[in-house]
Amino acid sequence: MRPFRLPDAHLPSIADGWTCRACSAPWPCPTAADYLTQNQCHCGAPSYWEKNGPRNWHVGPSCYTAADVVRQQAADLRTYRDAYPRYPPSHYYPKKPRRPKWPQPAYQHTPAGPGDIQPGTWTWVEPGGLYPGWGDIHHLAMVTRPGLPKSEVWLILDGTVHDVRADHLILSGQPRKAPADWWQWTAAQHLEQQPQPDRQTEDRTAEQLDLFPGLQPV
Ligand SMILES: [Zn+2]
Ligand SMILES: [Zn+2]
Repeated sequence: MRPFRLPDAHLPSIADGWTCRACSAPWPCPTAADYLTQNQCHCGAPSYWEKNGPRNWHVGPSCYTAADVVRQQAADLRTYRDAYPRYPPSHYYPKKPRRPKWPQPAYQHTPAGPGDIQPGTWTWVEPGGLYPGWGDIHHLAMVTRPGLPKSEVWLILDGTVHDVRADHLILSGQPRKAPADWWQWTAAQHLEQQPQPDRQTEDRTAEQLDLFPGLQPV
């Protein structure tokens, strides 16, 4: 019966110049070749991969050193870290700058369709949307002034008000049963759906005063 894996007797003897241990023919001998897939290394040397196992052979002098391997691993790791940046643990965060705290706005709004973002919509601010002092977690916030590219939100955590890029805001409070796909959109995607009146040219100060009528920072 034909063995499942390459028989050890037909492994190469490298000291004898890559000859078969059993046949003394140049390796791979016909018996060994049955079990191997041939490839070519980037250095031009042939390489052989076992069909039914993990072993592989690089015929010819080694084309890289241990230092090359370490360098390549470091480069791979750097690529990965750049693609998936991690934030340091929270005690490394800078201090929060002083900001006035505001009471919770009185209005409430639940989106009823795509593009329906009004003041009072509850959202989550994704990590990276706020100054690093507020950490790298999602923060529950209420939109107080929808806008592009930045919307103004009120944080439930400490009552501070922030200008956040709308693509860092995702809707909160989606229905458990059969939510529409627009619940997954960012606020920026919603706002782009809205007709474009003079949204960007509005006088910001006036609107902000209007949102907190008769209220002062506490
Ligand atoms: Zn052989
Ligand atoms: Zn090579």
